[in-house]
Amino acid sequence: MNRNGLLIILSGPSGSGKDTILYELAKRERDIKISISMTTRKPRDWEEDGKNYYFVDEAYFRRKLESEQILEYAQYGSKFYGTPKAPVDIWLAEGKTVILKIEVQGAEKIRALYPDAVSIFLMPPSLQVLEDRLRKRETEDEDEISRRLTIAVGEIKRSLEYDYYVINDIVGYAVSDISAIIQAEKQKTFRNKNIISEVMNNA
Ligand code: 5GP
Repeated sequence: MNRNGLLIILSGPSGSGKDTILYELAKRERDIKISISMTTRKPRDWEEDGKNYYFVDEAYFRRKLESEQILEYAQYGSKFYGTPKAPVDIWLAEGKTVILKIEVQGAEKIRALYPDAVSIFLMPPSLQVLEDRLRKRETEDEDEISRRLTIAVGEIKRSLEYDYYVINDIVGYAVSDISAIIQAEKQKTFRNKNIISEVMNNA
């Protein structure tokens, strides 16, 4: 059966566990594609170019923007982050579930471009847990941690703009919650209109 693609926005403060959740989700779900963003920030020790992000300089990022190869972008702190357009278009046309791991400004732009997109806000159990996680991963210095916590408060205030909340207290439960959202959204009648004609034609 030929379904339309499903576009999922996953946002959540830095340290809310988006990467861990997506890693686990990709093991469970069929037909999931996770968009790889472009960023002007420096890679963390464990990050690989082309896998976690495309790490680029600002001039390259601006060229991609000007040539309209970036679907949406945002400035986070002093760095730019953007979603390459071509893979998203291709995957959606193929009927895949496409996940964009983006922050709140980007989410707003995607909702305007794709009104059928489904948005999920990954919520930490508390700000204290968020701070502990950021400190424990040892990838940011104290200044950057406090900048990220300030941004986190602003993001949580905007979380009511999202369709769903998932609390990331225990990873396995959060992954199951997101799987359930994806399954239910895929079955919505408006996403499956072409199935009616396929069934009729096979009669
Ligand atoms: P980090 O530096 O921790 O990898 O990412 C910082 C923030 O930027 C996170 O909230 C992350 O979801 C967001 N982000 C990553 N890629 C994109 C993107 O392509 N567009 C937007 N708008 N935000 C992104």
